[in-house]
Amino acid sequence: MKLMTGKEYIESIRKLNIQVYMMGKKIDNPVDDPILRPSLNSVRMTYDLAQKPEYQDLMTAVDPDTGNKVNRFLHIHRGTDDLIKKVKMQRLLGQKTAACFQRCVGMDAFNAIYSTTFEIDKKCGTRYFENFKKFLRYAQENDLTIDGAMTDPKGDRSLAPHEQADPDLYLRVVERRPDGIVVRGAKAHQTGILNSHEVCVMPTIAMSPEDKDYAVAFAVPLDTKGISLIIGRQSCDTRKLEGGTIDVGNAEFGGVEALTVFEDVFVPNDRIFLNGETEFAGMLVERFAGYHRQSYGGCKVGVGDVLIGAAAVAADYNGAAKASHVKDKLIEMTHLNETLYSCGIACSCEGNKTESGCYIINLLLANVCKQNVTRFPYEIVRLAEDIAGGLMVTAPSEKDLRDPKIGPIVDKYLKGIASVSTENRLRILRLIENLSLGTAAVGYRTESMHGAGSPQAQRIMIARQGNLPAKKDLAKALAGIVEGNKCSN
Ligand code: SF4
Ligand code: FE
Repeated sequence: MKLMTGKEYIESIRKLNIQVYMMGKKIDNPVDDPILRPSLNSVRMTYDLAQKPEYQDLMTAVDPDTGNKVNRFLHIHRGTDDLIKKVKMQRLLGQKTAACFQRCVGMDAFNAIYSTTFEIDKKCGTRYFENFKKFLRYAQENDLTIDGAMTDPKGDRSLAPHEQADPDLYLRVVERRPDGIVVRGAKAHQTGILNSHEVCVMPTIAMSPEDKDYAVAFAVPLDTKGISLIIGRQSCDTRKLEGGTIDVGNAEFGGVEALTVFEDVFVPNDRIFLNGETEFAGMLVERFAGYHRQSYGGCKVGVGDVLIGAAAVAADYNGAAKASHVKDKLIEMTHLNETLYSCGIACSCEGNKTESGCYIINLLLANVCKQNVTRFPYEIVRLAEDIAGGLMVTAPSEKDLRDPKIGPIVDKYLKGIASVSTENRLRILRLIENLSLGTAAVGYRTESMHGAGSPQAQRIMIARQGNLPAKKDLAKALAGIVEGNKCSN
């Protein structure tokens, strides 16, 4: 079994006939589109790094059922060691791309579906686990990128799926046939969907029996009839059309999200992993969300490493590196970033075995991890902007710098320390801008807030997992409280 090179991966995506729309137009060649290509390059890195001898331990794993070496993004975690390596791999990729490299969603979906289908089959006598294992082997053998699609548009948040004015606001089964099902609906904010070979769909919330048609999980190739993608806009995205490399901040890498529409898509029986067993929808959601909340303790930390480095370089180029307040801000940024990493590692170390043999993270600690991610990157960005200075958003364009008449003026007046070129100073400031306000801010800021669930979703889980009664008992025992006694003497 051969792992794909990055180049082979790109050519394999090129062969798919994906229906993509952006800015009111159909995009016939998304692979070479200048707005879309950086996000494909980020996924490419998950293939390129898996080829490098120095990253084998992190980027690949051996599947104990087949003995085959697979890309870790297609691996089922078989111990806490696997969970820890996952977080380290994500930090590494964040460092190399300073973007969302997208392939984690499928990895987290795989692990959640693996353990959940095992438990559904045990209780309901279904064959979802066998179906899923077959799909897993296929994905591993072909080294595929699989997108995990969970978030429905959700319409009126106060209503259950079956109560919505428009029944399609949650993805649902509209027809049951002897050979499979037909589904309709959409999944919003789908990270990585454009760069995936297949999409693995899951429900987005816990469900009651009335929501039977909405409790559905399955996988289909991305170019299946009826699937179309509408690409989301990002701040400064059209800078990528200008042809330069400075103003985009990060010319090679990025991330892209899409509204993914399923218009009566047929799913064959052997690709169905949940079909009406509403009592298991919550388990699937909770496990997927838990894994993805762990993921953020790796990927965002890697991007944070780049941002901290960029702020330090900007200070060097300004001649401000020795100022004690600058040093202190860099220490604070590092402290915040490493706290996130500590959470990612901790929830992995404290993971445990599910009935299927697949390991799951400690759900309380994974939710604490993500709750911190909803805050700390914002503070890290604030400090980076503080160190960078206003030029980060007021600098003239690359075209001005290259202009024969204006260029020398820009070069003269925007210089920092004498030994560093103005161009390099602008490059580092534009990278900070990209991570703080530009296209990468989708991945580093707003995704930190809402990706893998908005802050309140983690607080609900923290409340559920925090075991307050046990903590009350600890306090009562030490305070010498014996309840029921009206008087102690
Ligand atoms: Fe992976 Fe992070 Fe992107 Fe999620 S946000 S897909 S964990 S890089
Ligand atoms: Fe995400």
